[in-house]
Amino acid sequence: MKIICVGRNYGAHIEELANQRPSEPVLFLKPDSAVILKNNPFIIPTFSNDIHFEVEVLVKINKIGKHIDRTFAHNYYDSIGLGIDFTARDLQSTLKAKGLPWERAKAFDGSAQIGNFVSKSSFEEVQNIEFRLERNNEVVQVGNTKDMLWQIDELIEYISKYFTLKIGDIIFTGTPAGVGRVAPQDVLTGYLADLESFSVKIK
Ligand code: ZN
Repeated sequence: MKIICVGRNYGAHIEELANQRPSEPVLFLKPDSAVILKNNPFIIPTFSNDIHFEVEVLVKINKIGKHIDRTFAHNYYDSIGLGIDFTARDLQSTLKAKGLPWERAKAFDGSAQIGNFVSKSSFEEVQNIEFRLERNNEVVQVGNTKDMLWQIDELIEYISKYFTLKIGDIIFTGTPAGVGRVAPQDVLTGYLADLESFSVKIK
């Protein structure tokens, strides 16, 4: 199983990090070792002093495919979830400045929180799902999938030009505005259309 992540897919988040609006989706991968096991905490790694949460809608692939046309992309996933793309922002900034790959800042052990998946048929419209992240019961990020710069079907088309999508692969579709630093003892809880999807403690 692999995790394909999309960067810069919400306009307001691009602005908060003063990034350029890309002309194509920004992609990076996380290995399966990045996944936090169920009910385990997120442990702040020793190599960073600035770990950020990024809440993101997840898409789980249920059919193998390559060169998938966007008009058929909906056949390749049947469930939607929510997760956190934990990011070592200080390390990422260093790597970005040097033009180096982001993996050490984005794909380290524990960098992928994956919540419960829900059948996509339970949503009226997948491109109109509200989601939010609460830190210690206070809302820190709110998003709606209608604000994606590239919609899910377009992402599947684009990603599958480069990477064969396999059953069980997960796409992290990008974060809305409001990312911020975590601190020990924080509890981060994600809600997908008002349904709790995960709760993770920071250590
Ligand atoms: Zn992200």
